[in-house]
Amino acid sequence: MSLKKLKFLFTLVSFFVLQDANSQSKNILIYNANVIDVKTGAIKHNKAILIENQTIKGIDTFKKYKKLASEKIDAKGKFVIPGLWDMHIHIEGQDLVEDNKALFPVFIAHGITTVRDAASDLGLQVLKWRDEINDDKLLGPTIYTAGRKLEGLNSIWKGDLEIENEAQLTQMLDYLDSLKVDFVKITENTLKGDLFLKSVIEAKKRGYLVTGHVPYDLTINDLANEGFSAIEHASYLLRLGNDEITAKTSILKGTLTKAQAEKDFLIKFNQEKATRAYAELAKKNVAVCPTLIGGKQLAYLDENNHKNDDFQKYLTKRFMSNYQWRIDRMANETAEQKQQRKERYQLIAKQLPYVQKSGMLIIAGSDCAALNTFVYPAASLLEELDLFQKSGMRPLEILQSATMNGAKFMGKFEKSGSIDIGKVADLVILDENPLNDINAVNKTFGVFTKGQYFDKNALNEMLNQAAKKKTELDKSRE
Ligand SMILES: [Zn+2]
Repeated sequence: MSLKKLKFLFTLVSFFVLQDANSQSKNILIYNANVIDVKTGAIKHNKAILIENQTIKGIDTFKKYKKLASEKIDAKGKFVIPGLWDMHIHIEGQDLVEDNKALFPVFIAHGITTVRDAASDLGLQVLKWRDEINDDKLLGPTIYTAGRKLEGLNSIWKGDLEIENEAQLTQMLDYLDSLKVDFVKITENTLKGDLFLKSVIEAKKRGYLVTGHVPYDLTINDLANEGFSAIEHASYLLRLGNDEITAKTSILKGTLTKAQAEKDFLIKFNQEKATRAYAELAKKNVAVCPTLIGGKQLAYLDENNHKNDDFQKYLTKRFMSNYQWRIDRMANETAEQKQQRKERYQLIAKQLPYVQKSGMLIIAGSDCAALNTFVYPAASLLEELDLFQKSGMRPLEILQSATMNGAKFMGKFEKSGSIDIGKVADLVILDENPLNDINAVNKTFGVFTKGQYFDKNALNEMLNQAAKKKTELDKSRE
């Protein structure tokens, strides 16, 4: 071959190599869209969002971008919001690995592009999935996880890191370091208050966000003073309408039972006192993840028949067999106790507008888990947002709680949680305006996440596949 020919061939090859490199960066345009700025509630009408791979490159006119995009999505009359964050889920059950894995696309189909896993017995598997999703090896929502949580000896939960002294605490924190967890979660089933508080202090020293339940032998303020990042479950807030310190000391002295304390928190609740306490917590940067839906499902179990819930087509028999224990545990409740459960739920829900007004960060989370009866993965976050609206929160505040507040809490707001140039392109296109009624989040037209656009058909196909997988798993276990 002559040198000339060789040169020509070389040019030709490099041309194709270059072409190939170019085609790897994919430009997608979502145009004619009403783009919602969750920071302010402003709507940018008739805008085009230019996405390069997984990043928002620009928000401007269709005319400006139309030649730059290889794929165009007409969102005429639609509303674009950031992908939703479910800030409290549990991916759990050692015998439910495949069952849980099959649900990842179901989250995407519900517009949920990020989840925070609040620890479980499957912690190590969840960490693996987190990394696989980040590496684009598995399609699912972005996961932040606590891995496994800190507890006392012989706790009722499976997979806990059980500690009974400071040496063991250090050991377990070293272990969590090695797992590269995203935050530390602590609960109080058997963990004593002093070691609980020490756990908060030590985990904070290592730079972690620290969240959890509130033990009876500590006050919320004890935790807030040590930099507790978030209270999981708004039910604990009812303590703030009482004298927390008196309740704590009486329980420690043995002159007050936990059951009586719970009754007092409800009956003697003082709204003004609680409202003042919320403002104090806001100053100390304590966030709250309300998780109303779980308490509501249990409180109204006698009024709602869940037998025909549509969502059950995605949940295996084995997954749902875990629902029974809470039902059994409540079976012997008296009529008075049942009534109290409802009143308690109503009072907790009523707190949300006060909490919002106080400046505390509300992060929306469902607490969906195999062990949490009728709190369905993915769908229950949308129900949770409806409960927020029923409680009196405004749609914009609710949308914030399920998008940017999660990103802010995790320290990721620079890169995600709103529709802004340079941020991750996690976007949900809705048929209706969620600022009028938050239930518009149920009307998904399409989802963009992980560099891919899924239209309504693609989302429905994900749901079909999940239903199919459930049937297969059930069959294989007969
Ligand atoms: Zn939970």
